[in-house]
Amino acid sequence: MSTPLHVLIIEDSEEDTQLLLRALKKGGYEPVYERVDSGAAMEVVLVRQKWDVIIADHNMPHFSAMKALDLLKENGYEIPFFIVSGGIDENLAAEAMKAGAQDYVMKHNLTRLVPAIERELREVEVRRDRSRAEATVEHQAHYDLLTNLPNRTTFKDRLTVALAQTGRNRKMLGILFVDLDRFKTIVDTLGHTIGDKLLRGVAERLRASLEDGDTLARMGGDEFVILLSQINRADRAVRVAQRVLDAIKPPFHFDQHELHVTMSIGITLYPYDGEDADTLLRNADSALYRAKEQGRNNYQLYTPAMNARAFERLALENSLRRAVERKEFLLHYQPQVDMQTRTVMGIEALLRWQHPDLGLVYPAEFISIAEETGLITQLGEWVIRTACVQNKAWQKAGLPPMTVAVNLSARQFQQQDLVETVARILKETDLDPRWLEIEITEGIAMQNADYTNVLLRGLKSMGVKVALDDFGTGYSSLSYLKKFPIDTLKIDQSFVRDLTTDPNDAAIANAVIVLAHSLKLKVVAEGVETREQETYLREHHCDISQGFLFSNPLAASPLESLIRRHLQKVV
Ligand code: C2E
Ligand code: CA
Ligand code: CA
Repeated sequence: MSTPLHVLIIEDSEEDTQLLLRALKKGGYEPVYERVDSGAAMEVVLVRQKWDVIIADHNMPHFSAMKALDLLKENGYEIPFFIVSGGIDENLAAEAMKAGAQDYVMKHNLTRLVPAIERELREVEVRRDRSRAEATVEHQAHYDLLTNLPNRTTFKDRLTVALAQTGRNRKMLGILFVDLDRFKTIVDTLGHTIGDKLLRGVAERLRASLEDGDTLARMGGDEFVILLSQINRADRAVRVAQRVLDAIKPPFHFDQHELHVTMSIGITLYPYDGEDADTLLRNADSALYRAKEQGRNNYQLYTPAMNARAFERLALENSLRRAVERKEFLLHYQPQVDMQTRTVMGIEALLRWQHPDLGLVYPAEFISIAEETGLITQLGEWVIRTACVQNKAWQKAGLPPMTVAVNLSARQFQQQDLVETVARILKETDLDPRWLEIEITEGIAMQNADYTNVLLRGLKSMGVKVALDDFGTGYSSLSYLKKFPIDTLKIDQSFVRDLTTDPNDAAIANAVIVLAHSLKLKVVAEGVETREQETYLREHHCDISQGFLFSNPLAASPLESLIRRHLQKVV
């Protein structure tokens, strides 16, 4: 019985190739081979299949064994390599061995070839076994045998790395210390085999209730720990804890036993509950202890105040879902006044939530929740539609036409069909596109400048206006400003606030005005509250002012009255 052998032969002579093959067959191999005589051809066949050995002629017209060795090394291949040569050259032989060749065989003495190959293949086998064994040992040092989860050591390593990264990104980390309730009773009554099965089952369910970036580890016994990386609020940790408790609820079935288990969870948050791995774990453990005291089957955050805050946000999230169905949202409108003519030329629509218990809730309280839960898509579409309907109604009621500005959040901006949605709404509400303005913040625009450009061009080509909101708060890159097809810059209110007292803020505001005008953009100053601010801005050629000085954001009908009164004054 001959052994199949995949041989790559590097040789320019067909005759010599046949001699090689004959030698291999005689030695008990069944060669499956390809012959190449150039580097290019060699690269092609190398990727085509896995080769057991390479046999190369020492010297060919356009290629050589040494060049072939170089090529292998460059591409990271490790294939046993044999050189056959017509004559002996000890220096070359030594050089070839140093370059990674296994042996150097004379053409007229090919009987040496097969034993050399056999010896080398045996060694390859031994090396492979050894590295497999090493990998196993390595795995056992870092993973738990029973569940195949990372063990305590690995977890601590990962936590340490995550701590270093998170510190830089100013995000939070969540650590959930999870412990099965009454595991000992289960083992005492049903035995270790069932106990092990249960631990494996629990590990599976835990893993299934986590997301990709999260780490689940077994600390030992019936203790597990979860690392939530890069979270931005406590309630994400709480939400995961709740999901984990729910995941464990359905009974487990092992050998006719139906097992109902629960668990308790202690949660710590970095940086609030500790700065290093040990402190965070210790505090998570003591939160876990409190969860057990509370009657098990629940979770506790280490800092009690955090508990309350997280619950509050969760409650808000739940009522936010209902709010969309119950139509609890409304828009307030704030006028934008032309600083020269003192007429209202635009209106910014600002979202409000009429909460049944909490009263009027402002966007700062709920926009981020709406973003995280995905509700923003629906809500944002409602805002655009309502603003367009209202604007059309004002035009029909005989008010001079004004632009209505609508704010977009980051997630809305990433919606693939945003341009189509806006187009559809304009069509349905029959509003001329030039009376709609979309406001995006500088930060959102800069997240992905190329994408921003495409999207804004889509909006512009329809005739919709675009304003860059909160300008000056950070990311501004002037070169982008030139590239983005925008109509309006809104100076952030933080600069307007101290305009008349802080020379730095005044300098920034002036620079923005000059810059915007050089790019033929209109400038809106936000948060104008005093006469002094207004005068200053007018003197420095700011185009439009928006703020409490002229009017608070108002519901539609008081705003309409305000504009009508104002019109009479202006005329
Ligand atoms: P923004 O776009 O910068 O809106 C201006 C904010 O300044 C509004 O707060 C407005 O009420 C407030 N404001 C107006 N005049 C003055 C003033 O003279 N002084 C001071 N101190 N504040 C003034 P509001 O309504 O609470 O909105 C906050 C933010 O929420 C908005 O900031 C906007 O980013 C976001 N937002 C509002 N409505 C929506 C919406 O429909 N969708 C989205 N995605 N975000 C919205
Ligand atoms: Ca705005
Ligand atoms: Ca703003």
